[in-house]
Amino acid sequence: MEIYNTLSRKVEKFQPIKASRTTLYCCGPTVYNFVHIGNLRTFIFYDILKRALRYKGYKPFQVINLTDVDDKTIENSKATGVTLREYTELYTKYFFEDMEKLNIEGADVYPKATDNINEMATIIKSLIKKGYAYEKDDGIYYSIEKFADYGKLSGAKPSTDGVRVKKDEYDKENVADFALWKKWSPEDGEIFWDPGLPKGRPGWHIECSAMSMRYLGETIDIHSGGVDLMFPHHENEIAQSEAYTGKKFVNYWLHPEHLLVNGQKMSKSLKNFYTLRDLEQMGFDPLAFRLLVLDSHYRSRLDFSLESLGKYADTLKRVYIAVYGLDLVKDDGEDQDLNAIERAVDRFDSALDNDLDTHSALVGFFEFVDLANEAIKKKAVSKRYKDELKLAINKMDSVLGLLRVNDVPPDVKAMLAKREEARRRSDWNTADLIRDEIKNKGFDVVDLEGLGPLILKTLN
Ligand code: AMP
Ligand code: ZN
Repeated sequence: MEIYNTLSRKVEKFQPIKASRTTLYCCGPTVYNFVHIGNLRTFIFYDILKRALRYKGYKPFQVINLTDVDDKTIENSKATGVTLREYTELYTKYFFEDMEKLNIEGADVYPKATDNINEMATIIKSLIKKGYAYEKDDGIYYSIEKFADYGKLSGAKPSTDGVRVKKDEYDKENVADFALWKKWSPEDGEIFWDPGLPKGRPGWHIECSAMSMRYLGETIDIHSGGVDLMFPHHENEIAQSEAYTGKKFVNYWLHPEHLLVNGQKMSKSLKNFYTLRDLEQMGFDPLAFRLLVLDSHYRSRLDFSLESLGKYADTLKRVYIAVYGLDLVKDDGEDQDLNAIERAVDRFDSALDNDLDTHSALVGFFEFVDLANEAIKKKAVSKRYKDELKLAINKMDSVLGLLRVNDVPPDVKAMLAKREEARRRSDWNTADLIRDEIKNKGFDVVDLEGLGPLILKTLN
């Protein structure tokens, strides 16, 4: 498999440190609000990355952290008058609900920043000892001029004038010494720790160094986060970690591009965002959004519109009709061209090898959908051919994650039988009424000519 490494600015052959485990650290959500669908684009990428690695025979072990203490979480919890912990637990719960709706398998570990304060303190103390960090009135700062490689990931040019920045987020024009630890001030209220450092709380960047090393080791295979994290977050992580261990922190840096709205980055501050809940309320299936995301290469910006989401929703429905319709096809028919299935899978495979080109992988997947539709038209194929088609779809979907279990409960089956009876009597009114009732229960009825009705689970 070849992937683009931001560090070398080249597409490289992927070679994990150990065959037994591929270590993967992905910067997770700041649980200060509902995540927006821009964040979700990035989280879908993390999922594809993990699934594709497994598909290619690696053994990925993935960590996604939860940022549950930072400037934003503190500000919002204070504004709503609940404790930081209660506040972040609520949004963590919503985050996991979104993950599930999007068929995101999830990480092997979801460590919280607040459970790793001692690990952060250990690194900070060592950085002070080694001369990379220094104390000021309001906090402990990292001296970027001490780290000769500062800027190697993002190209940021360190100034040597000792300017400091206390805020977690800042841009490349303001390259500066950054806060590892922020000393307590009255507005922090109850929020502080005392791990052998002056009473206070961590800056944002140190958490990912600490959790990556704790759960995955000093040098890991892959680290990922949206492009906006390349600077300063990832640059700072490298500086902290490599100064601390004297070893390379990460071999491959992967940065998925942003989701845009009208050419601008979707973000909370621009108020141009949708949450997954917004899309659901408009009647969209979350997996239609997943399909929309997969149809672009992760390193391309993706301009989002409801209109294009609508098109993907239609496409997804066609996929479901082909895939689940295949179950109705009889298997006492003739053999078909097995090579056609193999060609579709080959195309899919090589697309993933090529820097996770999910757009081209979907082309392979849709070739398969065409084959399934042809089988539906024929109404019967050989058992071997039908089995091979099903095998191929499950294989591809182990990466794409677009299918869901299409179980139909007994009451819906019974309603369908009544509808069929009404149709036999040519009682179209009753048949249509029952179809609407079935729809209200969250199922569509699609009549496949010569094969009978197919029931599809919908999400609205
Ligand atoms: P945050 O919760 O702000 O720390 O962001 C979580 C993840 O979402 C990070 O990896 C960000 O880089 C990513 N992200 C933020 N905005 C966007 C966007 N508009 N499109 C894609 N990813 C984003
Ligand atoms: Zn991070």
